Amino acid sequence: MRQERIVSIGPLPSHIVQALREFGEVVCLPDASRSEVLETLDERVILLIARGSVMVDREIMERAPRLRGISRTGVGYDTVDIAEATKRSIPVLYTPGAMTQAVAEHTLALMLAAVKRLFFWRERLLERDWDARYRETNIDLEGASVGIIGYGRIGRRVRGLLRPFGCRVLADDPYIDHSLYREDEVEFVDLETILRSSQILTLHVPLTEETRGMIHRGNLWDLPRGGVLINTARGAVVEDLDLLWQALEDSHLSMVGLDVFPDEPPPWDHPLLRHPRAILTGHVAARTFLAQQRILETMLRDVVRLLSGESPPSENVVNPEVLGDH
Ligand code: NAD
Repeated sequence: MRQERIVSIGPLPSHIVQALREFGEVVCLPDASRSEVLETLDERVILLIARGSVMVDREIMERAPRLRGISRTGVGYDTVDIAEATKRSIPVLYTPGAMTQAVAEHTLALMLAAVKRLFFWRERLLERDWDARYRETNIDLEGASVGIIGYGRIGRRVRGLLRPFGCRVLADDPYIDHSLYREDEVEFVDLETILRSSQILTLHVPLTEETRGMIHRGNLWDLPRGGVLINTARGAVVEDLDLLWQALEDSHLSMVGLDVFPDEPPPWDHPLLRHPRAILTGHVAARTFLAQQRILETMLRDVVRLLSGESPPSENVVNPEVLGDH
């Protein structure tokens, strides 16, 4: 029989490749396009490590009929068709929690850079415009209303990090039991209210059919004028980049801080990329030493369990209902 294979869409460090070799040949496709992924898949493939943005859908799963698992090295699993995997009894592993602190820190970094206008002031200084300090002011976090949409692991950690700043914190998350979070000092409100009441809005929802485009042309203008929008969740939660550019141009938003884009990488010539009041990073919130170490350790441990015939912890499986099928 031909040797079993593990395919990784995206690079893997050598020690992980070494550890996985116990279960078969490891094929890494660091920058693979969808067609390259499809070409590589066949009946030898028992595990797919889905690190990139290639959509793992029915066509991909059909090409690898002996797939025993799909592993996402991260918390967002919008690039995997979960319903299709579940139909085929393929567990989808992920690593929730491994990057909570890193993403919350990055969110706070974007927020602080935005309200303290770090790049604007650097430019003024380089232009020797010392007197700009008499004309312009920064935004206080103290006393500001900060709205958190999606009060899960990251949203709640952002709230924790904001504690010393003395903000008023609002949250919108209809899917959790609000009574469990009384000690967090958060006002739970609906989407409409959070938009109308937040000077600073930060997004922490997963990308789902419901959250795709949840911030759109019809409601962004509900935010108070001069508002700040931070998005470290998924780019497509905001309708498109043109909308953010327009909101900055109209000065309806005073600043935007993004780590994520509807298409990644974003269109390089989009004017938002060079907008002086847009603070942008390229999907790097979880690219920290600790987060990457935790992600890869969790992924390896769970994949080894799965391929050894044991069940990985159900909290690290998106569709734990299929675990009994093996
Ligand atoms: P989580 O599942 O713990 O929290 C998400 C929360 O959003 C949940 O509490 C859920 O109830 C809530 N939610 C879902 N739909 C909602 C809606 N329509 N309105 C309001 N709330 C809604 O996930 P998490 O670990 O906090 O991660 C959140 C997201 O952050 C991930 O799904 C991922 O897309 C993104 N993320 C980005 C990076 C990055 O590198 N920038 C890294 C990790 C995660």
